[in-house]
Amino acid sequence: MPIYTFACESGHAFDRYLKLAEYDVPQTCECGKAAQRRICPTMIAVDIPAYQSPIDGRWINSRAQRQEDLKRNGCVEYEPSMKEHAAVARAREDAALDAKVDDTVEAAIHAMPARKREQLIAEIDSGVDVEYTRV
Ligand SMILES: [Zn+2]
Repeated sequence: MPIYTFACESGHAFDRYLKLAEYDVPQTCECGKAAQRRICPTMIAVDIPAYQSPIDGRWINSRAQRQEDLKRNGCVEYEPSMKEHAAVARAREDAALDAKVDDTVEAAIHAMPARKREQLIAEIDSGVDVEYTRV
């Protein structure tokens, strides 16, 4: 059902869905005055501009080809929310890794000979500067 734009002589503009059979039926504005149909430019949705697929170099000339290209290469359309979801997942992985590191350090300290462990605790309590070295 097409949508038509009308305007009454007071300048009130409104859109109305009408069946094609009602094309010539006079329309009345909410203010009660007769309304005339307005000619409006048609909105045309242009297809995407042509580009070369960054994945396999094929030319993409339409949205359909773009969808096909993404599907063929196991990709999805980028959406801004993906960045947030990835950041949340990364933070969760970092927290899990930190917990694992803490457990490993805790286990290593626990496995130390009692004298060495007491010495380490005393050093930490005295505020000794600790330098970490990764190998
Ligand atoms: Zn009116």
